Amino acid sequence: MADASPPTSPDAATEIAAAFVLPAARLADLVTALRMEGYAVHGPMVRDAAIVLGPLADAVALPHGWTTRQSPGGYRLERRTDAAVFGFTHGADSWKKLLHPPRVRLWSAERQGADFVVHEDAPAPAKLALFGVRGCDLRAIAAQDKVLLHGPYPDAEYAARRAEAFIVAADCAEPSGTCFCVSMGTGPSARAGFDLALAELDPHGDAHRFLVRIGSPRGGAVAAQLDLAPAAGADIAAAAALADIAAANMGRAMDKDAARALLPAQRESAHWQDVAQRCLTCANCTMVCPTCFCTTVEDTSDLSGDIAERWRQWDSCFTFEFSHVVGATVRESASARYRHWITHKLSAWYEQFGESGCVGCGRCITWCPVGIDITAEVAALQDLSQRDPR
Ligand code: SF4
Ligand code: SF4
Repeated sequence: MADASPPTSPDAATEIAAAFVLPAARLADLVTALRMEGYAVHGPMVRDAAIVLGPLADAVALPHGWTTRQSPGGYRLERRTDAAVFGFTHGADSWKKLLHPPRVRLWSAERQGADFVVHEDAPAPAKLALFGVRGCDLRAIAAQDKVLLHGPYPDAEYAARRAEAFIVAADCAEPSGTCFCVSMGTGPSARAGFDLALAELDPHGDAHRFLVRIGSPRGGAVAAQLDLAPAAGADIAAAAALADIAAANMGRAMDKDAARALLPAQRESAHWQDVAQRCLTCANCTMVCPTCFCTTVEDTSDLSGDIAERWRQWDSCFTFEFSHVVGATVRESASARYRHWITHKLSAWYEQFGESGCVGCGRCITWCPVGIDITAEVAALQDLSQRDPR
């Protein structure tokens, strides 16, 4: 049987073969080199007062000199005083939308006489380059690989996109107020699963440059086209120092081992009613989460009844329909749905996949319209259990 592992699996340690220096003025050369290799390059850009991921025609579109300020239920785009390209933390969308798209047509059927002819849609032949993937999001891709590549039901669409994906990681130097990757062991630097990794140095002036680490043979081949100078030891040390500063400035923290044990034990806690008073069951947290993988299937037909289609789209455990079985919804209340989501994410995920389902990216905190904070809910449950340890 063929190995379903993608060439750059974030689940395996990456051998760092070498490090080079790319002057910031030549970042466009890297984007061009990827495009010349046939990749559709996607990366961060400013749109609608947010940083979103989209197709990059060139490096000019990257968010030069922008940053974000994030808090529970709050997101603001702000100007920086320097020209940093990766001086922000991610927005609502993640690389999941490219590797595991929100909506995919599975097949269509067309009436021909008395019969229907069914056309199965082949997986999209996408050759994607993901430009600027953070450490936490590398681990989120690894989590989706476990489900959609290595699980009992591999997903052909995901496998096709993942096999060709070229990953350019970008170390995080300034976490936002909702980040907690350090306590989840996923960041702030890219550790594995990339083809190339960039660390941005000295964005204030003429020495603005990137330390480029090679993570795979094809990453090395792309870097070789750029004819880069080897990195000095001082540049490698500067990148490590920035990572240490970022790690010390996390907006939040979570005790993941405590959460794993705590949540099943707190099944009947009164705290779930407290959350239900606030939770709108809007499903935002699941839509923005880079590890959530659930989908549902929808059949449609046109008004004439001659064309029918089957679509797969992202689903959420916050909807009524998600737990509808044999004529009834199992998890009717907001308390039951929130409890299910957080318990699966932080505890039951270990039984299924051997790790936490949370990478500490903070998106569910920033994009919750009422500011519900997964780290604060765990802390509140911990506090309650310590006061009443029954
Ligand atoms: S926790 Fe927040 S984002 Fe998630 S469903 Fe409830 S209100 Fe929506
Ligand atoms: S649960 Fe929240 S913090 Fe954890 S990976 Fe999902 S969106 Fe990020």
